[in-house]
Amino acid sequence: MSAAEIKSVRVRFAPSPTGFLHIGGARTAIFNWLFAQKHNGKFLLRIEDTDAERSGQDMVEAIIEGLRWLNLDWDEEIVSQSRRLEVYKKHAHALVQSGKAYKCFCSKEELAAKRDEAAKKKQDYRYRNDRKCLSLTTGEVEELEVRNQPYVIRLKLPEQPVQFTDMIHGNITVHHKQLDDFIIMRPDGYPTYHLAVVVDDYDMQISHVIRGDDHLSNTPKHILLYKAFGWQPPQFAHVPLILGMDKHRLSKRHGATAIGEYETSGYLAETVLNFLTLLGWSSGDDREIFSRAELVKEFDISGVAKKSAVFDEKKLEWMNGQYIMALTDQELLEKATPYLKKQDWITEEILADQKFVLKITAMLKQRLKRLTEFPEMIAYFFSAPERYEEKAVKKFWKDESVIDILQKISSQLAAIKDFENTSIEAVLRSITDELELGFGKVMNPLRLALTGGSVSPSMFEVMELLGKQNVLERIETACVYIRKNLVEN
Ligand code: GLU
Repeated sequence: MSAAEIKSVRVRFAPSPTGFLHIGGARTAIFNWLFAQKHNGKFLLRIEDTDAERSGQDMVEAIIEGLRWLNLDWDEEIVSQSRRLEVYKKHAHALVQSGKAYKCFCSKEELAAKRDEAAKKKQDYRYRNDRKCLSLTTGEVEELEVRNQPYVIRLKLPEQPVQFTDMIHGNITVHHKQLDDFIIMRPDGYPTYHLAVVVDDYDMQISHVIRGDDHLSNTPKHILLYKAFGWQPPQFAHVPLILGMDKHRLSKRHGATAIGEYETSGYLAETVLNFLTLLGWSSGDDREIFSRAELVKEFDISGVAKKSAVFDEKKLEWMNGQYIMALTDQELLEKATPYLKKQDWITEEILADQKFVLKITAMLKQRLKRLTEFPEMIAYFFSAPERYEEKAVKKFWKDESVIDILQKISSQLAAIKDFENTSIEAVLRSITDELELGFGKVMNPLRLALTGGSVSPSMFEVMELLGKQNVLERIETACVYIRKNLVEN
C-alpha cells in the first residue's frame, strides 16, 4: 500500500475480556500494532465488555498484562464498551427514527414456532419473510410500549447484495437473501456486538479493522450498519485462524493457549512476538528471525496469507534457543534471574557471586531452550548430584572396571597444581591413551559422577568451575554408589 493511500492509520485491538490474552488474540494485537508502527499511526485498545456476566476486571487486567509483556504499547485512553451503553442506545434509536431500523415485539415463543414451521417445510427461517413488526403503526408501537412490552431493534435490510473488499480475502459479495433483519439492540437495552463494534470503530475513527477471520461472516452486517448510518466503512483485513499441529483450531487441548503461560514456561517476549508474527505472515523469503524493528519495517498486510497457520511449539522452542544465544551473558542472566529466584535452593549468596554465575551462564547458553530449564541445568555447580540418571547408570556404570577408571582419574587429577581447563584435558587425554579406551568410555562415566546426568557442556570447563576438591569428592561418592549398586543388582 502506498503512503498516499493511507492518510492517517488508526487501528484497534478489541478483545472481549471473557478469558486471558490467548495466542490468537495476541497475534491479532501484534498485527495491528505492527501496522500502526509501520504507518506512523495509532494503535488503540478497546475492551468489549458488554457481556457483563462473562466479562471480568481480572481478565481485563490479564489482557493488559499480556500486552505489556509483549511490549505492545497502545495510544490514547482505553475505551470500555460497558461505559458507552447510552451512546449505542442513542444510535439504535436514531436508526429507528430514520426508518432504517424498527422495533420488534415478537416473543421468543412466537419466533420459535415460526422457525419450527419453516424447518418442517425444509425452509430457512428469516424474520424478513414476514417482517411482522415492521407493519405496526405508530399507534400500535406506542401502545405496546405503554404496556411495557419488551422489544428488540432490528436493522431493516435493503434488497441489494452487500459488497466489500477485504485486504486479505479480496472482493466479497453476499446476496441479501442470505441475510436477515438482524438485531442491533436487545430487550435489556444492551447493544449487540454488531452495533457496538460499528459505532465504536466510527467514533474512534478507525481506518483499518484487522481481526480474526472468524469475524469475516459478520462483516456484511457491519457494512450494512455503516450504510444505514451514512458512514464510510473502514478497510477490513481478516487474518487467518491459528491451528494446532493436528489442523484443528488451537485450543486448550493443544497445551498452553494463554500468553502468560508462555512467560511462565520460560519463553522470551521477543521470541513470542517474532513467532506469532510468522503465524500467517511472511516476508516473502525464508527468513525466520526478525528483530522488532525489522518486523515494523517489513510487515505488510499483503504478506498475510488467507490460509490458516499452524502453531508448532517445537519451532517456538527452537526460536527461543536462537534468541537466547543472541543475548549477552549478562542479559541472559538478568532474564533468567526471576526463574532462579523461584527455586528454594538458590540463595542470595549464590546470586551475589556474579562472576561465577556468569561463567556458568556463558557455558550453558548454547544449550538453553527455555529459561525454566536454567535452574536445573546449573544445579550441579552448586551441590553434588542427589541422584544419578537411571538410564545413564545402566549404560555407563555397568561393571567394576569403571571404578578403576574413575579412581585412576581421581588420583591423577589430585596431582594437578593449576586445576584448570587445559591441564585437566591433558590429564584425561593421557589416561584414555594409556588405557587405550575411546574418549567417551572415560568421559561419560565421569560426567555422570560429576553432574548426575549424561549431557553437559565441556567437562574440562565444568571441572575447572567445580574445583578440584568437589571433583574428587564427587568421584569418590560415585565409586561407593557404583559398588553398592553392582552388589545389589
Ligand atoms: N471482541 C471481538 C473478539 O474478541 C473482536 C471484535 C472485532 O475485532 O471486531 O473476538
